[in-house]
Amino acid sequence: MTTAHLHTPHIHTAHCHSKAERLAEADALVQRKGARFTTMRRATYDFLLAQKAPLSAYDILAKLETRLNKKLAPPTVYRALDFLLEQGLIHRLETNNAYLVCDHPGAAHESVYLVCTQCGKTQEVDDHAVAHLLETKAHTFGFTPSKQVIEVQGLCSNCN
Ligand SMILES: [Zn+2]
Ligand SMILES: [Zn+2]
Repeated sequence: MTTAHLHTPHIHTAHCHSKAERLAEADALVQRKGARFTTMRRATYDFLLAQKAPLSAYDILAKLETRLNKKLAPPTVYRALDFLLEQGLIHRLETNNAYLVCDHPGAAHESVYLVCTQCGKTQEVDDHAVAHLLETKAHTFGFTPSKQVIEVQGLCSNCN
């Protein structure tokens, strides 16, 4: 095991960094990868940064139109979401097909999501140990996992 796996799991919250800092971080990350942060992609990311709970692509389109005060072609928004997913800036939850910003973009990780069924607030928990444990277990069945999304539903500390 390398030292990279020995860090203590920690929980990032939206309060860790200001929105401006996170946008600057995203700018740098996209630039490092040689990709282009177009106006639409950036506007979509900026919008998602401000959301408290994950949203469906349809909701993102509708709310983004209201926010930018103009009609948007759905494929434009969906392509922007695909781009942000590829760059690791956002994630998509499997159970409800909702999108949320990544709390620690730039680092390869398999996260665990704690989804509040009452208010929708979703906490991303980056814990390598959990992902590795499942992967090892899968291998004992001769199964090779290619993608692993762990979602835990329940009540958040506010709704509890
Ligand atoms: Zn993440
Ligand atoms: Zn809640």
